[in-house]
Amino acid sequence: MDFNKYNFSRNVILGYNLSNKHPFKKRAGNATGYYELKFDETLENDLKVLSDLYINDVSFKILGSKTNLYITDNGYDGLFVDMRPQNSRIVFDDNTQSFIVSANTSVYEFVNFTMKKGYDFAEFAGIPGLIGAGVVGNAGYTPSGKEFSDFVKEITVFDFEKCETVKLVTDKNFFSLRTSFIKNCNKIKTRYFVKEVVLKSDFVGEDAVREKFDAQMERRKPGLYYGFKEGSAGSVWSNAHLKPILKKSFRKLLIENPSINANFNGATFSPNGGMQFITGPNTTDKDVAKLFVHTLNKVKELYGVDLHKEVMILDSDGEIDLETFIKRNS
Ligand SMILES: Cc1cc2nc3c(=O)[nH]c(=O)nc-3n(C[C@H](O)[C@H](O)[C@H](O)COP(=O)(O)OP(=O)(O)OC[C@H]3O[C@@H](n4cnc5c(N)ncnc54)[C@H](O)[C@@H]3O)c2cc1C
Repeated sequence: MDFNKYNFSRNVILGYNLSNKHPFKKRAGNATGYYELKFDETLENDLKVLSDLYINDVSFKILGSKTNLYITDNGYDGLFVDMRPQNSRIVFDDNTQSFIVSANTSVYEFVNFTMKKGYDFAEFAGIPGLIGAGVVGNAGYTPSGKEFSDFVKEITVFDFEKCETVKLVTDKNFFSLRTSFIKNCNKIKTRYFVKEVVLKSDFVGEDAVREKFDAQMERRKPGLYYGFKEGSAGSVWSNAHLKPILKKSFRKLLIENPSINANFNGATFSPNGGMQFITGPNTTDKDVAKLFVHTLNKVKELYGVDLHKEVMILDSDGEIDLETFIKRNS
């Protein structure tokens, strides 16, 4: 597929090696095309071109910071669209006491901005990635159990099927645990691109937010430090699903029962920090599949529960589920 025949604002790089863009897997295949989506005067044109791709059934995926993504050794036969964080924008609306935030704003930048204004988004402290992805994946991490859905008031998306910008209504079925209507819709074909979000929280004053922020960052420090130092996935297995059943995180299970862990050619759960999933330079998808099968079986045997995958697995033909990944690599 020659993506340069479409009218993108900049060149699409063909045969791009995705290892360059993978924060935690050391080895990944090529994308047929790689494109940087910028939040500037070229955005509207590029969204219309992506809409052409949608209508013509040409596969594309839009990613933010790529911290919730597993790319296989096969790479991706489609256009890998990399949303850039430059020109991000946060505007405070005095009338509604809410924040209008472009999807390419980092969660880190947003929490710092709102903290200085005294609004309480400390629950988001330490969640990596961009705001758009946080909304799509309904990210969350706190002892209070709050997630993005607790703060989202409005979502503006580009609808590739209709080729227009629309506001989505977030009724009570829009979000569920670590997912959303948008995430589910985009699985097979990317229908919606989040452009902008309105987020609202209580005013409690800067000092009160900072206190919560510091406490949360203190708790998260070792996990985040090793997460980025070792290049690990924050959430291969969803704690949000595990905790209500066992009242324990996946890390706690690894500590209680070290036999849950294994090491297949570098595919393992790190002994450090949040004990997150890591790979080595020569780890293949087959090694990863062996680790996943081992872990799933051990947790089922010891605790009687099924683990839930949280990362998106991107294979040559697009997003695949865990069962397909294991079947293809056994
Ligand atoms: C060390 C570490 C700690 C973590 N801690 C947490 C945590 O506490 N809580 C938590 O929930 N997660 C956590 N994660 C997982 C991950 O950081 C979050 O899911 C985060 O929200 C992903 O953001 P991202 O920009 O990296 O998204 P990406 O990985 O780039 O994308 C994730 C998904 O969102 C979609 N997407 C991204 N932007 C858009 C958009 N604008 N429009 C439509 N779809 C879009 C992508 O297609 C993809 O399906 C952690 C990860 C790591 C590595």
